[in-house]
Amino acid sequence: MKIAILSRNSKLYSTTRLVEAAQARGHEVRVLDVLRCYMNITSHNPSIHYRGEDLTGFDAVIPRIGASVTFYGTAVLRQFEMMNVMPLNESVAISRSRDKLRSMQLLARKGIGLPVTGFANNPDDIADLIDQVGGPPLVIKLLEGTQGIGVVLAETHNAAESVIQAFMGLKVNIMVQEFIKEAGGSDIRCFVVGDKVVAAMKRQAADGEFRSNLHRGGTATLVRLTPEERSVAVRAAKIMGLNVCGVDMLRSNHGPVIMEVNSSPGLKGIEFASGKDIAGLIIQFIEKRLESLETCKDKTRTRGKG
Ligand code: ADP
Repeated sequence: MKIAILSRNSKLYSTTRLVEAAQARGHEVRVLDVLRCYMNITSHNPSIHYRGEDLTGFDAVIPRIGASVTFYGTAVLRQFEMMNVMPLNESVAISRSRDKLRSMQLLARKGIGLPVTGFANNPDDIADLIDQVGGPPLVIKLLEGTQGIGVVLAETHNAAESVIQAFMGLKVNIMVQEFIKEAGGSDIRCFVVGDKVVAAMKRQAADGEFRSNLHRGGTATLVRLTPEERSVAVRAAKIMGLNVCGVDMLRSNHGPVIMEVNSSPGLKGIEFASGKDIAGLIIQFIEKRLESLETCKDKTRTRGKG
């Protein structure tokens, strides 16, 4: 197989591991900086160019598209799809997962447990919004935040109102969420490949912190999932239409609640915590999927809804 990896930096742990795993299984692999890919979309014969070269002959493409380049990155991925190159995750599914509200609406529609979440646009509606999610303490999140930045815990009504007003004044989109106190500053990352959770880790926030992101000083350990958690993670991935993803959940008093489904989950934390060759499992998944699609003319059928 000839595999393209769309990544801005070939030295990143996840990218390096995917290259190693593909080569170890005898595949040809190339890392492409997604922002250096350019294309002519009017052509009857869709093509992608890279630093003056015409890119051809790829069987599969692994998108590792950072949140800041979603728009351009998904356009490039779509062009690969038009050229009948099988994407590990489809462009449509990636765009869907990058819109946090849309994702939560889709998951809620299918009965997946979520923290009670609200959003509003007008400052006049703040007080009612706070009541709707059950009052303080509550969590206020920037929709465009990543790695825990822009996630604030407001412990009183006044604090919540001030923070929401400040964010609204800055014209950024936010959501307001019930605080799952019983999670005790930890969350669970389920790594899904195909229709299985291949590894899971519990991330525990540093002392005095409620955000468990590894980038915020959280620590990761292996965790045993309940059958319910396992099944919720696989269902969430299916609903989002993602073949490979990280499903983040909190253990609440009323069962697992999903916070986010990440379409480009990092490999470092999960490979270290689980000791598993996750990159290898991803390459094996691509091999199997390509084999099953061999007789199918369109390798990029859109899955998921909405
Ligand atoms: P990001 O996408 O920036 O990582 P998250 O929504 O995942 O933001 O939130 C960051 C961390 O904050 C989570 O990993 C979790 O530990 C904590 N957290 C987020 N939402 C809640 C909540 N509703 N209740 C309790 N803890 C939360």
